[in-house]
Amino acid sequence: MARIVMKFGGTSMAGSERIRRVANIVRRQQAAGHEVAVVVSAMAGETDRLVNFCREANPLYDPAEYDVVVASGEQVTSGLLALTLQALGCQARSWLGWQLPIHTDDAHAKARIEGIDSEALLASMAAGEVAVIPGFQGLSDANRITTLGRGGSDTSAVAVAAAIGADRCDIYTDVDGVYTTDPRIVAKARKLKYVTYEEMLELASVGSKVLQTRSVSLAMKEGVRVQVLSSFIDDDSAPSDEIPGTLIVSDEELEGLDMERQLITGIAADKNEAKLILTRVPDRPGAVATIFGPLAAANINVDMIIQNVGRDKGETDVTFTVPGADLLRAQTLLEAQKEAIGYNRIITDGKVAKISVVGVGMKSHAGVAATMFRALADRGINIQAISTSEIKVSVLIDEDETELAVRVLHTAYGMDATDQAA
Ligand code: ADP
Ligand code: ASP
Ligand code: MG
Repeated sequence: MARIVMKFGGTSMAGSERIRRVANIVRRQQAAGHEVAVVVSAMAGETDRLVNFCREANPLYDPAEYDVVVASGEQVTSGLLALTLQALGCQARSWLGWQLPIHTDDAHAKARIEGIDSEALLASMAAGEVAVIPGFQGLSDANRITTLGRGGSDTSAVAVAAAIGADRCDIYTDVDGVYTTDPRIVAKARKLKYVTYEEMLELASVGSKVLQTRSVSLAMKEGVRVQVLSSFIDDDSAPSDEIPGTLIVSDEELEGLDMERQLITGIAADKNEAKLILTRVPDRPGAVATIFGPLAAANINVDMIIQNVGRDKGETDVTFTVPGADLLRAQTLLEAQKEAIGYNRIITDGKVAKISVVGVGMKSHAGVAATMFRALADRGINIQAISTSEIKVSVLIDEDETELAVRVLHTAYGMDATDQAA
């Protein structure tokens, strides 16, 4: 017998028929003798719909009330799944975030889980009940409902798995694993059997939304065994020992598996960045600090930064990116600081995308960035900014060229599925 957490995303929970399919998958695990907790998302599109209602009600909405509204989508699906399981003859009950409770900090709309009281949950599971938990939601110390940021149900699932000491955390979604890049963009993307926590963390943080970044860092920290797999599987398929999805493993484990390590693990695209250029900033100590100080104070994350070499007259241009949602706020802040910084003009561009190639193999191989730049240049794709880490190279390009760039790079690194089959 194992103790497992199963998480089902929005597409898997969209409508009665799909919820019945999910209930059957859950029932099979329980019938196999496992103790099961299920974490669910709202139906696909529901959270977006609720976010829009908040915006319409008040463009400068109070994040605490926003959380009350957007957390409701998961309340609906958790109740519906419990009802559907009961209809199949399973004992099941829902546990809302405040009922467990799932304790979080009070950063509404992007709260962090601080702890989960799991005693009652474990007792109910031990008594043969399937526990159905709405993802995405928690409770602050001030006794208010919080949510964990978009895509947060993945993090709920991993946190529950850590809290109850689960043997596995299975993340069921609408693709059958983690691919070398978004399989909806590149038809030749290849499914990865294994990916390391470190690689998955980097891929998620640069835009592979198949897992929320925080869920990966939590799984890594707590040693939770995470698998990504599809809920759209054939009910009658024979059970096999093959891993149906992608398993996230530690570096040591991967080496033990004796896999031939690829240079590049994956490619991700992120269209949620925006670029700002401050022209003719005085080229003297402290100038850059007066730009980024106010942004940090306003909790705006700056990602890529380029300071061009000083031109004559001791001036330089400073280019950087922020999350698209923070562009207006950043621009307003910097305009208020125009005198103090001493720049000439702000140029902004929300139509940019960041394309990143990720791979642990990069640590020991030169030439990854050069291949990237050459492949993009051959297609006439202009690079506006570059940033690198030990296992990642990112470039900023025109948003309209996103899909083309991802495809071109996928081929350039020899990752296309047909290349492998050959
Ligand atoms: P869920 O609702 O189940 O949480 P998401 O939409 O959040 O599902 O995440 C699944 C989606 O992630 C897929 O449909 C796919 O388009 C996208 N995706 C992006 N990058 C990848 C990748 N490298 N591998 C697999 N899926 C990816
Ligand atoms: N429903 C939430 C969202 O759409 C959380 C999730 O699905 O993970 O972001
Ligand atoms: Mg998701």
